[in-house]
Amino acid sequence: MRRISIFGATGSIGQNTIDLLRRDKAAYQVVALSGGHNIARLAQDAREFQAEIAITAHDARLDELRAALKGSGIEAAAGSRALIEAAGRPADWIMSAIVGAAGLAPGLAALKQGSTLALANKESLVCAGPLLMQTAARYGARILPVDSEHSAVFQALVGERIEEVERIIITASGGAFRDWPLEDLKSATLAQASSHPNWDMGQRITVDSASMFNKALEVIETKEFFGVDPAQIEVLVHPQSLVHALVGFRDGALMSHLGAPDMRHAIGYALHWPDRKSLPVARLDLAAVGQLEFRAPEQGRYPALRLAYDVMARGGLCGAVFNGAKERALDHFIAGRLGFLDMAGVTEDALAQIETDAGLIDDAMTLENVSRMDDLARQAVDRRVAEKAG
Ligand code: NAD
Ligand code: MG
Repeated sequence: MRRISIFGATGSIGQNTIDLLRRDKAAYQVVALSGGHNIARLAQDAREFQAEIAITAHDARLDELRAALKGSGIEAAAGSRALIEAAGRPADWIMSAIVGAAGLAPGLAALKQGSTLALANKESLVCAGPLLMQTAARYGARILPVDSEHSAVFQALVGERIEEVERIIITASGGAFRDWPLEDLKSATLAQASSHPNWDMGQRITVDSASMFNKALEVIETKEFFGVDPAQIEVLVHPQSLVHALVGFRDGALMSHLGAPDMRHAIGYALHWPDRKSLPVARLDLAAVGQLEFRAPEQGRYPALRLAYDVMARGGLCGAVFNGAKERALDHFIAGRLGFLDMAGVTEDALAQIETDAGLIDDAMTLENVSRMDDLARQAVDRRVAEKAG
């Protein structure tokens, strides 16, 4: 039996992972499941799979989790230290599906025990790509991409040599607002930004898709994961979300990956890699689809994308600042304190401010320094939002 842990088990990626495990329960022994406020879901899944331990991110919910697991023999724990401890428990395959920078420390702990980390948590690569990749190399662990675009690139590279790659093209649906006039975006609401035309995902990544911050993170994720130059990475708007990525080789050939927009595809590929097993995803009928549409991202419409290239050019701990600022800007948008288009502006301001004030961007890439930059970025955004309000 393969030992499996899922961090962020109660979220969209976590539940899709559990759906796949449920189809072949006898093959898996679940070690740890983690969640946040949805204690009922966490406890129910932990009981169903007879997990060794269930962890909520929130200390204040521990008693409730204990009560929900009473009599099951399953350990209950809470908080970030408990998450790190659980990630260090021996497992063969660990899903990293926490949303945000909070996924970094458990991801590193999982790599240190040399297991395979299925990485949905793109934020950890954006904050600390070199640290994550070096930790994997040092402990003989493997990272498999779960983001659909990166899984697509990974699959297109099977049997190929990265030196022969000329460019990597990741596609973007354009999110909820792809056909909106730019002027209308100023007053876009949370409800409008929270409905994705093609994918059913967690709220934060759905809003990030509408603003293209998600694609900005994914461009950086591509650089960190595949080790290519920023100039080799392109974004192509493809409203149907059927072609997930394309890899261009030096002979001009393009290899692409197509599939229905269903995350169980990329999760299942990572779960069964290097084998392919039957997956419960819809099969594409291209004759019924008829046409595939592509267009270049409109210049000026997606400031987040431009910021991603600035961040890669600057290097150092800039990714941690970018991600922390962007996460905090999203918190403010969700709370109704910041307009949709202002998220990119305050993120850019935070980057500029930390570069001039703190000068810490070139410090060593350790977990402590990454966390410090993340904190500073969030504080810079808070100050900027307060100034705007005042
Ligand atoms: P989600 O919001 O649905 O779920 C997030 C999970 O993380 C939940 O279990 C939640 O309890 C937990 N969590 C939230 N904050 C936490 C914290 N501070 N500490 C510990 N746990 C915390 O998110 P999602 O859509 O499943 O996305 C998860 C990750 O996968 C993100 O990094 C996202 O960018 C990435 N991803 C998601 C999709 C998708 O289809 N949903 C696709 C590609 C990549
Ligand atoms: Mg993606």
